[in-house]
Amino acid sequence: MARFHTTDPTTGELVEAFEGLTDEQIEPLLDRAHTGYLAWRRTDVAERAAVLHRIADLYDERAEQLAQDVTREMGKPITAARGEMKTCAGIFRYYAEQGPEMIAREQIEPATGGTAYVRRDPIGVLLMIMPWNFPHYQIARVAAPNLLLGNTMILKHAGNCARSALNVEQLFQDAGVPADAFVNAFVGHEHVGTMIADERIAGVTLTGSDRAGRIVGEQAGREVKKAVLELGGSDPFVVAPDADLEVTAKDAVIGRCVNSGQTCTSSKRFIVVDELYDAFLEKFVAGMSSVPFGDPQDEATVVGPLSSEQARMDVHDLVEDAVSHGAKVLTGGQPQDGPGFFYPPTVLVDVPETARAYREEIFGPVAVVHRVADLDAAIELANDSPYGLSSSVYTTSAEVAEDVAARLEVGMVWINSTSKSSAELPFGGVKRSGVGRELGRLGIEEFANHKLVRSP
Ligand code: NAP
Repeated sequence: MARFHTTDPTTGELVEAFEGLTDEQIEPLLDRAHTGYLAWRRTDVAERAAVLHRIADLYDERAEQLAQDVTREMGKPITAARGEMKTCAGIFRYYAEQGPEMIAREQIEPATGGTAYVRRDPIGVLLMIMPWNFPHYQIARVAAPNLLLGNTMILKHAGNCARSALNVEQLFQDAGVPADAFVNAFVGHEHVGTMIADERIAGVTLTGSDRAGRIVGEQAGREVKKAVLELGGSDPFVVAPDADLEVTAKDAVIGRCVNSGQTCTSSKRFIVVDELYDAFLEKFVAGMSSVPFGDPQDEATVVGPLSSEQARMDVHDLVEDAVSHGAKVLTGGQPQDGPGFFYPPTVLVDVPETARAYREEIFGPVAVVHRVADLDAAIELANDSPYGLSSSVYTTSAEVAEDVAARLEVGMVWINSTSKSSAELPFGGVKRSGVGRELGRLGIEEFANHKLVRSP
């Protein structure tokens, strides 16, 4: 299998393949990107904002074609793929409108008189390493704030998202981003370290697994370069004794199955207090068993195929390991026969600490449900994870919600809701879920040079 390709997860067939760059092609690429940065940083902020507006418009205009390519490339149900394009348009519009004010200079009153202010300047070319699960949205989270700020980017997309990588590059160029200010590069892992070490790369951002995050974070640290790492999660979904059971069970299904279960912020561990456990489980299992599952081209489908054969094997390995440690499968639990990489919505209970599924992220529609004595035990279990990305808490009490939100070791807490993303809300995690934030005001600060200018 070529490293950069489109393989349709619905059929398992290779659709197209692309040549990767050779070692000799890296040097001119870096030079091009650096030249692009020197020109882009000198453009006026209003001009950059206008380009972002055009990107947003093109996302609206091209949504259908872009969505079809995403569905063919990584199997996302078509309705969700269209939604992803709408979200991207919203992110570019948000930074086009709000960005200029966010990067305005900040006056400081010096204690000893005179004047001082902080400028937010760009730092250079960023290497962006992106995953396949939201082939456009992940890029928008980085590209929108950073193009507005004056940074430029080299994109290293996931190997199975080559067509989307090219689509993004073309869309940006058509919107007026100079060809050297956003460069798609079909480069392998072996090139990433070399690129990070090069002085023409100013920073790196990776969205992906914590395994890749450790490697890339280490490479950046060695070069004293800023790295933003948006990594995996095993998000807890805490059900308090006073939760509204109907809403909770319905949302639990949505939370686990969004993007066919392949979302970093999917609810993955359902932690339910004893008094609601049986009633919750009955509704949840019924809901998971009846999720529209199948052809991602069908507009009603919620769970389509997983992105690759390997992804499906990884999920099934975790299920089999859990069962071998005594867990029970209440629905699903077997790969679907036939073509494509389908894995049905699955519910596991009685998953012991010794099972991999207790701690590891399950990147597919497989839920682990835990019974706990009370809310304190729920929080303890929720925090007993190497990850700390997002979370959900279901309760009808504002005090309980606030208390649980304060005690969870995560970057995001959603009360009576599953995790969602929006341009103005900062997104990111703690622990092995990563370093830094994207979106909102915090997102535009990550790769800014906060430059002090002081005069007597
Ligand atoms: P992955 O294997 O880590 O791949 C992500 C990106 O990193 C791909 O472009 C991949 O390239 C690249 N990569 C992997 N190993 C690398 C290395 N040693 N050196 C340089 N680049 C490397 O992750 P995935 O399985 O595709 O994506 C799923 C993971 O991403 C899950 O853990 C999920 O939770 C996480 N995620 C996190 C967020 C967030 O915002 N926190 C959002 C979405 C997904 P190749 O494709 O060429 O291997």
